[in-house]
Amino acid sequence: MRRGTLTIQARYVFPVDAEPIEDGCLTIQDGRIAWVGSAADRPSDLDLGNVAIIPGFVNAHTHLELGPLPGNGSSHGVVDELTWLRQVVEQRRAGTDTSLGATAEENVRAALGAGTTFLADTTTAGLSWGPVARAPMRAVVFAEVIGLRRDRGLQTDAAAWRWLGSVRPENQVAACARVGLGPHAPYSTSGWLYYKSASSGLPLSTHLAEMPEELQLLQHRDGPLRRFLEDLDAWDDDWEPIGPRPADYVRRGDLRKADWLIAHGTYLDAEDFWQLRPEAAPDGHRVAIAFCPRTHALFGHAPHPYRALLERGVIVCLGTDSLASCESLSLLDEIRFLHRRDGSLSGALLLTMATLFGAWALRAETTTGSLKTGKSADLALIALPDRVEPDPFNLLLESDLPVVGTVFEGDFVTGRWLGA
Ligand SMILES: [Zn+2]
Repeated sequence: MRRGTLTIQARYVFPVDAEPIEDGCLTIQDGRIAWVGSAADRPSDLDLGNVAIIPGFVNAHTHLELGPLPGNGSSHGVVDELTWLRQVVEQRRAGTDTSLGATAEENVRAALGAGTTFLADTTTAGLSWGPVARAPMRAVVFAEVIGLRRDRGLQTDAAAWRWLGSVRPENQVAACARVGLGPHAPYSTSGWLYYKSASSGLPLSTHLAEMPEELQLLQHRDGPLRRFLEDLDAWDDDWEPIGPRPADYVRRGDLRKADWLIAHGTYLDAEDFWQLRPEAAPDGHRVAIAFCPRTHALFGHAPHPYRALLERGVIVCLGTDSLASCESLSLLDEIRFLHRRDGSLSGALLLTMATLFGAWALRAETTTGSLKTGKSADLALIALPDRVEPDPFNLLLESDLPVVGTVFEGDFVTGRWLGA
């Protein structure tokens, strides 16, 4: 964390919870934001030039231990999700703790270089914890639990808890990282693992309403996913879903008494949206949807209901998912992609989804996610094109210029001004 005071200025500052400031300026004091305003009002120590200062990105869903698969680039067209899932299973099974850990290490660096200062990672038995804890960023690391069959479920649950037991509270504070649990998905994970995870008091993440085959399995205990699981020797004849609707997996009984970060949610029933609003959760528990635009497009799914969810007050944040389903761990790439697909989403909303909403979902909105006095100086610095735009957000969105620096707790940790 930076000690002392530094004032930086740039062509634009996008605070997210306030209007963009042209010729803006931000003062960092002891790692925190001490002042945000116009460069005309305060002399700066460092002029970043034709750059935007925005809050560091919050990647609300990723799997750092996964690398690229052959044929997952957008140029290859729509990919069959079950074929893809089989490849992911093979990649995981072929990997060792060392090789998966090395991939996680590499991916943490890539995420940081892409302006990410906070990420939610789902990982096998805490595999990504080391790389994430060493990196200058915040994180919530969800240990995955998975298994329809009881023996497999017990095995992954025991491995997750072995890791959870090894991370002391003071390690979490020192690493700016917290631990959580990730019941994988209704189609792969038995109901008792969901209930057990929900009783832990830890933050939880799950893949929900990801594909039509999941609805078929929950409603009829049959369909392509059942055959897929039978082929993998992962099917259990005695398996019963928690309920016929994906939302049952986060809203039934004691499952409501937990924070849930829901990856995807594409096929959630619109009738269930009201249950996902912050006001519908008991005792301030939080539910949010992590939408991964490029991964969603890769599988040719039905349109994602992000707009309807947002209109009903549900928090929709953004994730990249893993390199197995998209080309980079960059939230800037995700919001540019979404802007091209849906020009009616405002730049202000897109940037909020990529920062403050993710911070809220991970219970850190008072610490990070916007450029507000008192919050941590977690910043992404983005090069801007040499043109004028009536809507300044288009300088970020209608451009292919990169993130040129990442700042965490006031320290320049990647890019052009590294160590400044
Ligand atoms: Zn995922």
